[in-house]
Amino acid sequence: MYNVVIARYGEIGIKGRNRYIFEDKLVKNIKNSLKELGKLNVYKQYGRIYIDVEDYDYETIIDEAKKVFGIVALTPAIKLENDYDKLKKAALELVKEKIEFEDVKTFKVESKRTDKSFRLNSMEMSRDIGGYILSNLGDKIKVDVHNPDVKVEAEMRAECAVVYVDKIEGYGGLPIGTNGKAMVLLSGGIDSPVAAWMIAKRGVEIEVIHYHSYPFTSERSKEKVEDLARILSKYCGRIKMHNVNLLPIQKEINKNCKEEEMTIISRRFMMRIAQRVALSRGCNALVTGESIGQVASQTIQGLTVTNSSVDIPVFRPLIAMDKSEIVEFAKKIGTYETSIIPEEDCCTVFLPKNPVTKPKLEKIIKSEENLDVEKLIDEAVENIEVKEIMF
Ligand code: ATP
Ligand code: MG
Repeated sequence: MYNVVIARYGEIGIKGRNRYIFEDKLVKNIKNSLKELGKLNVYKQYGRIYIDVEDYDYETIIDEAKKVFGIVALTPAIKLENDYDKLKKAALELVKEKIEFEDVKTFKVESKRTDKSFRLNSMEMSRDIGGYILSNLGDKIKVDVHNPDVKVEAEMRAECAVVYVDKIEGYGGLPIGTNGKAMVLLSGGIDSPVAAWMIAKRGVEIEVIHYHSYPFTSERSKEKVEDLARILSKYCGRIKMHNVNLLPIQKEINKNCKEEEMTIISRRFMMRIAQRVALSRGCNALVTGESIGQVASQTIQGLTVTNSSVDIPVFRPLIAMDKSEIVEFAKKIGTYETSIIPEEDCCTVFLPKNPVTKPKLEKIIKSEENLDVEKLIDEAVENIEVKEIMF
């Protein structure tokens, strides 16, 4: 019955004259998300995006398109030429379906008339369509304007007529690719995939960098992080993943610095390497899954010392979230089950018994004087393994 799905978008990034950039990107991203299902016609018409679904299962299309950032809601609809009688008939058919399959007992009609030359105003349209439905189905359904089981929305537009009854919520945000690019430090944990998702939702294209300590950490632990990136790619499209072996650096720190400074100095190396790779890839910010006070290295002092190793902005979308909130989020986006698979992490390999919780920057810089920082970074970067991850 449905022949289109309407993709609604709310916020338009960097508004005004750039509106079309946003809309065109959204159309492109929707097409991309559906390309496995076929070559669907996705198009913009008078400030709206439609997906032609006549020959497809619209529910599958909605499930896929829902993951595209920038979409606030998806509405399966019947789109017709702007012929009022046809619109009424289509509205009736939709209500019939609802009665048959969902056992609805009450309805309400809400109308819109963007074609101001049309003889009825929106109030009159609603009354007329409602009356028409009652005259056909009055024994099965009643009007309830306050709390209807089904709300029929009918529109007479200049270019077409549209009617629909359902709305499926999207995630909102902005289309990926409209807000630059960032490099996410992706571990195998619960937090960083959520952080990546949140930043991507704001229209930022992401690449990911992961640190392992192979052969101290297993091949499997790397695959787990790839699996996480693959889940993210459902939302973000293809993701470039940079795998870095941190072991040589960890050994050097272990040999030359104080045990309790191991974690914080390793983190500074992670940040520096991430920045180096980020800039070479056109990414102008880093993203981490840190949250104040979650672990020893995430005290304000710890974050300050970590931060000061790089110059580009570091985005920490989870900074004020509780672990339980992050867990809920991870479940919602589908990364949780993978994140909790037990695998060792590079940070646990040399975990100090008593890590510093209030590191002093001057002291850490002093300790780093025992290392050839630039050379270690160069070597780590030279040995990076790059992979394209896609769902
Ligand atoms: P997560 O659940 O994301 O692993 P966490 O609570 O375990 O986070 P830390 O291990 O202190 O916290 O890491 C803080 C952040 O540093 C992570 O969210 C991630 O962005 C980055 N990070 C930590 N370990 C790695 C790694 N092995 N590779 C890439 N990034 C990492
Ligand atoms: Mg971790």
